[in-house]
Amino acid sequence: MATTTGKKSVEMVEVGARDGLQNEPELVATDTKIALIERMIAAGSRRIEVASFVHPKWVPQMADAEAVVAGLPLRDDVTYIGLVLNKRGLLRALATRADKAGINEVGCVAVASDGFGEKNQGMGWVASVETVRDICRLAHAEGMAVQATISVSWGDPFDGVVPMDRVVEIAQRIADAEPKEIALADTIGVAVPSRVSELFARVADAVPHIPLRAHFHNTRNTGIANVWAAYEAGAHIIDASLGGLGGCPFAPKATGNVATEDVVYMLEQSGISTGLDLDRLIGAAHWFENKIGKPLPSMLSRAGGFPIPSQ
Ligand code: ZN
Repeated sequence: MATTTGKKSVEMVEVGARDGLQNEPELVATDTKIALIERMIAAGSRRIEVASFVHPKWVPQMADAEAVVAGLPLRDDVTYIGLVLNKRGLLRALATRADKAGINEVGCVAVASDGFGEKNQGMGWVASVETVRDICRLAHAEGMAVQATISVSWGDPFDGVVPMDRVVEIAQRIADAEPKEIALADTIGVAVPSRVSELFARVADAVPHIPLRAHFHNTRNTGIANVWAAYEAGAHIIDASLGGLGGCPFAPKATGNVATEDVVYMLEQSGISTGLDLDRLIGAAHWFENKIGKPLPSMLSRAGGFPIPSQ
């Protein structure tokens, strides 16, 4: 992606307040979540996953989704994303449009494999793809922007390696329902750069009209390398969470998302604009570590930045 000035750029999507927090064992207060989102906006985030509209029995950390959204600042330049797994979740997200700010975009999730699908959303991959298509249609009918994620695109904690052919087929079926973008997600952090390049290239070939987003977890320390591989393969929308917050309640041993500040450092040093301010991100990570009383896994919040070489 090139800007009007010719500089390369990516669009960062901040997922710390949703994917990042959903596995935190201690409930994070609603006003702390809102303060986290406000700090991310101050650091430059313009697309932010703020909540997940799932049943609180499954993800207790997201039980205050409506209260979080009700407290968000009204910003015409910020897109607030709500995750929905079914029609009921979509209706909850739509209802927030009565709030000061409200949800501007919903994200829905297909699973690439049955084992994780049954645990995470109570259905196998075929049914999850149909659900995503239904959510896209309903969202479009309501004038709500919608995008889709294909979770466990490289591997499933229960079923093992996911065949690439299947992910390509899922992307094609979802593309028929015209989401604004499709993300390939390494939900449990098993991917490596060579397989990331291959799958993004194959999906881009199969659905050339749909922008692709990359979503990586750093469970096996390949997350940041995978972001670079995805970028090189043409994915110019990148998910990341402040501090590397995260995990997945339905995927044993899965750890945090790639850290926003680590990704920003790598890309900005490489001459790729992210729109984010590294010092403010590091400050926000330190602030949040104090709030939850434990260190976060990001490297940059320990090491700090470094002058960007003139290009
Ligand atoms: Zn994730």
